Amino acid sequence: MPELPEVETFKRYLDRTSLHQRITGVEVRDAYVLKHVSARELTRRLKGRCFKNSHRHGKHLLVRADEELWLRLHFGMTGSLEYLDRDEVAPKTARVIFYFGDNCRLAFDDQRKFGEMELIKDIDEFLQTRGLGPDALGIILSQFKAILGKHRGAVKAILLNQQLIAGIGNLYADEILFRAHVHPSTDAARLSDKDLARLFRAMRHVLEKAIALKTDFNRLPKSWLLTHRRKRGRCPRCGRALKSATVGGRTSWFCAHCQKHPRYPAKRVTARRN
Ligand SMILES: [Zn+2]
Repeated sequence: MPELPEVETFKRYLDRTSLHQRITGVEVRDAYVLKHVSARELTRRLKGRCFKNSHRHGKHLLVRADEELWLRLHFGMTGSLEYLDRDEVAPKTARVIFYFGDNCRLAFDDQRKFGEMELIKDIDEFLQTRGLGPDALGIILSQFKAILGKHRGAVKAILLNQQLIAGIGNLYADEILFRAHVHPSTDAARLSDKDLARLFRAMRHVLEKAIALKTDFNRLPKSWLLTHRRKRGRCPRCGRALKSATVGGRTSWFCAHCQKHPRYPAKRVTARRN
């Protein structure tokens, strides 16, 4: 599922390929993806304009087409962007295709169909309506401490809660906790100042490193949990068998040796996913 690093990678890809070209048409192949807008309306509003710049907040990508016109993309489980040259055939699972003046296209590809696309007027208004928290890479340590200090419950559920911090999903939450030596079900209220600082540094490191590697799982360091999190997977730090458990409603992988279970486990908290 595309999380902050994947969406940031899509943003950079879109910036590199698709800005400042006149949109000559929009083909909606599957309308499930459209939220609060019809295919006809989407085409009417975008045709003749250009994508001018883009902004990412958490897992949302917002592309500006005019003063009060933003295209919001959410990649759901399997969404991605693909820029196609003149002769390139669009993937079968392309759901929406933007046509540009030079016959190139930008396809929103989405195999599992959980993606979303809509037109919005204003980013701040959208964030407020959705109740989204600040972007995970936009906060400083004191804000991070304040957010975690104010909320009780499993630290992993808090990291996943988009209304508290936006952008972290299941895979990177586990990676961050692994790096910080924190068990996913530790009650956030029990984390010391030092734990919080370590967790914050781990969050920044994991997200930034994943972006730098364009989220290519084959290039992620072997010392990361991500490349080992599966049945019979072993901890890249101590070699012991990894464990999995449901925390915050999601399957969590961790090393019970490197991430000690807290003595007073937190109550289960269900996290919002988007
Ligand atoms: Zn270990």
